[in-house]
Amino acid sequence: MNENRDQVIDDRWIVSKRGKKNAVNPRKPYAWLVEKECTVSGVIEDIAIIFLTNRECSFHCLMCDLWKNTTDMAVPPGAIPEQIEWALDQLPDVRHLKIYNSGSFFDERAITSADYNKIASLLSSFETVIVESHPKLIGEKCLNFRKMLKPDLQVALGLETVNTEVLLKLNKQMTLDDFSTAVRYLKQNEILSRAFILLRPPFLSEPEGIVWAERSIDFAFSSGVECCTVIPVRPGNGAMDQLMNNGDFTPPDIHSLETVLEYGIGLKKGRVFADTWDLSLFSDCAKCLDKRTTRIVEINLNQKITDRIDCICDTYHTGSVQSI
Ligand code: SF4
Ligand SMILES: [Zn+2]
Repeated sequence: MNENRDQVIDDRWIVSKRGKKNAVNPRKPYAWLVEKECTVSGVIEDIAIIFLTNRECSFHCLMCDLWKNTTDMAVPPGAIPEQIEWALDQLPDVRHLKIYNSGSFFDERAITSADYNKIASLLSSFETVIVESHPKLIGEKCLNFRKMLKPDLQVALGLETVNTEVLLKLNKQMTLDDFSTAVRYLKQNEILSRAFILLRPPFLSEPEGIVWAERSIDFAFSSGVECCTVIPVRPGNGAMDQLMNNGDFTPPDIHSLETVLEYGIGLKKGRVFADTWDLSLFSDCAKCLDKRTTRIVEINLNQKITDRIDCICDTYHTGSVQSI
């Protein structure tokens, strides 16, 4: 583990490292798309994702870059249902929907509960709706929304890492107990949850990044989540770039993502996905990047481990060196 850990990481420092936000319209989502996913019933289906334009998240996590497409002030009441309605008009008919709001769906300052009824009526034709939330914001509001909702509700929660020293430095303002309490509360109320898990957050070597991601998957499943998504950590939000310059952060290698994905699927405790957005950031081997990307996508979709790709780059991948 890197010993250079005296950097004071707090809201002020993290925000001070940011660049400019992108121009967004509080009446329009900033993105929407359809992708394929292996659903909880094991079938590959289309799933739509709406990326709502929303007020910046109340938390300032070290690795987060979602602030880039947010507003400084709350969006007007009614703007969130308007955005959802607009996006649904652009999207094909699908049965599952993710609504991501660059923060927590259950943060009253982000999405007012006065909008829940209208949102729920817009979503009545779906089978599943997935929203995201900080674990500390799971509570009554979640149940109130669920009561209005016809589709099944699932909630995605950031666990990030079970390395408590690193978790503290991520400025997530959360303990492992907060996470498992939130998952338990959701489960008691028959709401499925999925965990976001970071692969190689700052202050960890490549082998440590693998081990802590695997331990985080173990913890997430033992807490009661139904599904885990492993996210390789990237620079680009200012703070992470600064840590990278200091030698406190290095993006993980695509081989490590494969290793952790294989580990998670092999547990057979629930669905495990690897985030596949821009995997070129995690590979410097042009020979196998496309093949590895295709393999990861296939494993995600089928939830079955396939044969590894052999390539010259396997020999210099440091993640296989167990030297913790
Ligand atoms: S809680 Fe989620 S959205 Fe908010 S800053 Fe942290 S990672 Fe980003
Ligand atoms: Zn290669």
